[in-house]
Amino acid sequence: MTTLMTGNEAVARGAYEAGVRAAFGYPGTPSTEILENLEGHKDEVYLEWSPNEKVALEAAAGASYAGVRSIVTMKHVGLNVASDPLMTLSYVGCEGGLLVCVADDPGQHSSQNEQDSRHYARFAKIPVLEPADSAQALAFVRYGLELSERYKTPVMLRLTTRVSHSSSLVETGGRATPATALFERNPERFCPLPAWGRQMRKRVEARLEELRSEAERSCANGIEWQDRSLGFIAEGLAWNYVKEVFPSASVLRLGFAWPFPDALIREFASGVKRLVVVEENETILEEHVRSLGIPCSGRDLLSGIGELSVPRLLELEAALLDLPSPARAAPCPEASDLPARPPVLCPGCPHRGLFFALTRHDVIVTGDIGCYSLAVYPPLSRTDTVLCMGGGFSVAQGIDKAGEGRRVVGVVGDSTFFHSGITGLLDVVYNKGRSVLVVLDNRSTAMTGHQENPGTGMTLMGERTVEVDIAEVGRACGMKNVAVVDPYDLEATGRALAEALAREDSSLIVARAPCPLRARSAVGKIKAIDAAACKSCRACLKLGCPAIESSEKGKPPAINPELCAGCGLCAQVCSAGAVREAAL
Ligand code: SF4
Ligand code: SF4
Repeated sequence: MTTLMTGNEAVARGAYEAGVRAAFGYPGTPSTEILENLEGHKDEVYLEWSPNEKVALEAAAGASYAGVRSIVTMKHVGLNVASDPLMTLSYVGCEGGLLVCVADDPGQHSSQNEQDSRHYARFAKIPVLEPADSAQALAFVRYGLELSERYKTPVMLRLTTRVSHSSSLVETGGRATPATALFERNPERFCPLPAWGRQMRKRVEARLEELRSEAERSCANGIEWQDRSLGFIAEGLAWNYVKEVFPSASVLRLGFAWPFPDALIREFASGVKRLVVVEENETILEEHVRSLGIPCSGRDLLSGIGELSVPRLLELEAALLDLPSPARAAPCPEASDLPARPPVLCPGCPHRGLFFALTRHDVIVTGDIGCYSLAVYPPLSRTDTVLCMGGGFSVAQGIDKAGEGRRVVGVVGDSTFFHSGITGLLDVVYNKGRSVLVVLDNRSTAMTGHQENPGTGMTLMGERTVEVDIAEVGRACGMKNVAVVDPYDLEATGRALAEALAREDSSLIVARAPCPLRARSAVGKIKAIDAAACKSCRACLKLGCPAIESSEKGKPPAINPELCAGCGLCAQVCSAGAVREAAL
């Protein structure tokens, strides 16, 4: 059947059709929807949001050892977390096919960096498949799992935001019969202790040679001969842009993106007058082409910063053909005349209470990856650093131990706490830090679309499970001072913070209230400002709630009833008592 699917839907469909028995992952845009699109098949595919990407890959490895096909999904920065097992899994190898589905984010649409996961594949010496559209995404899942079993290696499926979230036609089919799990004991096979690990090391190199031969004949690669005055080598998504902007040029399309097919590259290069490499982000392919002694253009004409696009390829066309820039009108001009709309915490967001309470203290706030990183913006301006998942606590410890005179408050979210914040808390407790550690527990992995986590009491399989109590985890880790507060209660939150900051040792504050977007209901009664009572002091605007609209200075603000979630924070801030329940 022919259907329109996003790349992520196609990956999920491909996994189902290929007989995958288990799928693990940690949510992260742009990869999140892969597991979510397998939810309709949970009778046949075991699904799991793991606490982090390292755990997810290790679990997928276990499923593979037991002989069944598995996939693991994550965004590019998640692969940093999973890189430890990846490096050794390359040595140990697979039994059942194992596909590492990594979604990179060129252009940093929702990411803190723009790293190129192909580096990891080369580092780990595992093959990479890079689809150009949804049809290839589906086909490459099946192909990747076959490769994984044939060569006993994990295989990387490298997606990018544009492939993951764009829709194109795919041909769906039936499900292959999945293997039955049966782990065959063989320590020499599964334990890379030095004596056996050294033998594995040799097999990895031999496997790489075999994979090079596979790349030469792979149906994922191919030459499209046309006008030979200009020839492009393009990987994955880049092929689409090349075809659109240079429809009559010759193209070497690489879907088997690493290791490279050297003979095919030489054949193509010798058949064209001028060679151009088009790839997103890093120059991995271009450097390889040059290492073969083949002159080419690439990064000299096309920057590696940001996402490729038709306008950028039009710039390339102008540079190549020495035309005025741009040679043709870009089809999608940027909407530069729209007003800037900086991202803000949602109306009714429980994080607002905690950050507002923090505005009353001269402390350093080390934040983390989650919706709450938006507190970096005015008017709250209450986040000073953001590094990586789980780093909020450890960075606090570093600043504190460096001898900074001001107190440091480390902030992480609930999912982030389970991901890798726990070890930061252990560091602070064990090494006698004095930071105030805050977990913004909104009962959900909210930023990526409200996925379950170990604190929500539900699994991705839709089953009720243990609801891990963050305060109890803190106590079990040795934290002496633990408080649980309602962040909608400004006085209680402020008091807990002041008490924690008054102590000389470390504290843990769990600011606990569910995300109202997940509950899909207002927190309380919708509010309105009584203009007659309002003193126009603008104190309520300091909350940064998008429902409170600022009118002319000196005039009362107004609350937009369509946006207000009724959290009541503005009523607590208003000393004039001008915020009332709206008469709706
Ligand atoms: S805090 Fe109260 S008095 Fe001040 S502007 Fe807002 S509604 Fe008016
Ligand atoms: S009650 Fe006030 S702070 Fe809360 S959502 Fe409504 S306007 Fe915003």
